[in-house]
Amino acid sequence: MTTQTNFLLLETRDTLHKWLSLTSSGLMFFFCFLNIALLDQITIGMVDGMFGALGLYFFAAAQQKKIEKWHRFALIFSLTVTTFSAFYLADLRAGSIYWLLLLPPLYCLLAGAKQGLVFTIVLSFPVLTMLFLKSATENYLPYRSVLNFVLAYFFSYAICYLYETQYAKSSLLLYKMAFQDPLTGAQNRHALKVFFDGFNKQSDNSFQTAPEETRLLILDIDHFKSVNDEFGHDVGDQVLVEIAELLQYCIPSHNVYRIGGEEFLIVLNDHSATQAFDFAESIRKSVENTVFRTHQQNIKITVSIGIAQLKKGQTFREFLRAADKNLYSAKNKGRNLVHYGSMSITEAV
Ligand code: GH3
Ligand code: MG
Ligand code: MG
Repeated sequence: MTTQTNFLLLETRDTLHKWLSLTSSGLMFFFCFLNIALLDQITIGMVDGMFGALGLYFFAAAQQKKIEKWHRFALIFSLTVTTFSAFYLADLRAGSIYWLLLLPPLYCLLAGAKQGLVFTIVLSFPVLTMLFLKSATENYLPYRSVLNFVLAYFFSYAICYLYETQYAKSSLLLYKMAFQDPLTGAQNRHALKVFFDGFNKQSDNSFQTAPEETRLLILDIDHFKSVNDEFGHDVGDQVLVEIAELLQYCIPSHNVYRIGGEEFLIVLNDHSATQAFDFAESIRKSVENTVFRTHQQNIKITVSIGIAQLKKGQTFREFLRAADKNLYSAKNKGRNLVHYGSMSITEAV
């Protein structure tokens, strides 16, 4: 759920990763040329060249939306090593220390607030030691240099930390507003549409070599109107909340969608027709055997379930029509049963 809900944050992180890979790659190639051709620093130049090539590779991978976790850490590592080496090897007056102030914000934005803090603290030890030693000359006062650097270094992290945590909260809120049903906490119709689009965008090759059996269950509460009529709308609402909880208990919560008033949809990945049917049947029985205790009322309800296989290229509307047909067959056959093509409850038992 966390990865899904923070997709805005992750997307921002991926964009930063992509462009930083390209920019740092350009810089590394520049330093590679400078060190090898002009300064005769062959080893350093070769390390720069290696990081430059790595940056290009990360950029290409990011372009194809194939960022791996290690890419992020390798990028952080290469930025740290080159920045620290420049500071370590050059005279303090060359000013390479300024680049070190960029690292805490980059750690925070690329690796997240917690890991970013760990990297910031770890790097501060060698940097401060070196700064103290390098500042101990007639021109500098080591304590003052270190104090100023410490303040700027950790402040730059703190500002980014505030931004990062606030952004994480906002993206979560935005996600909930856009994709979650406020009453039941299940995902909404918009989220289902996004799921469909994603499913249709999956590469055809990967689909042909590993055909996934994705099936969807459409579940509708039987005679729900009479629950509202008999017990009131508040009780009806509470029953909807509890039934969503029951469904989310049966399957990971991000696979449960509320697609209409008293209609839910469940996505089943890697389920054969029989497995999907048995799963639907287990849900039907759980609901039938549950007493919904709400507002001092004991309420019994049943559900009808239609199943449909998700086919590539099918539009959202076409799919819903196919699944609805099975659902209405279940209703027509008397309700409180599962229907999937020729399969029905009587054949399953
Ligand atoms: P069927 O077995 O044919 O599905 O009958 P039904 O009564 O469940 O179906 P119908 O479509 O006639 O009525 C659906 C009812 O669901 C009507 C509406 O009052 C109720 N409903 C829809 N959304 C909500 C909601 O958010 N809260 C409550 N309490 N009731 C809702
Ligand atoms: Mg109904
Ligand atoms: Mg309905």
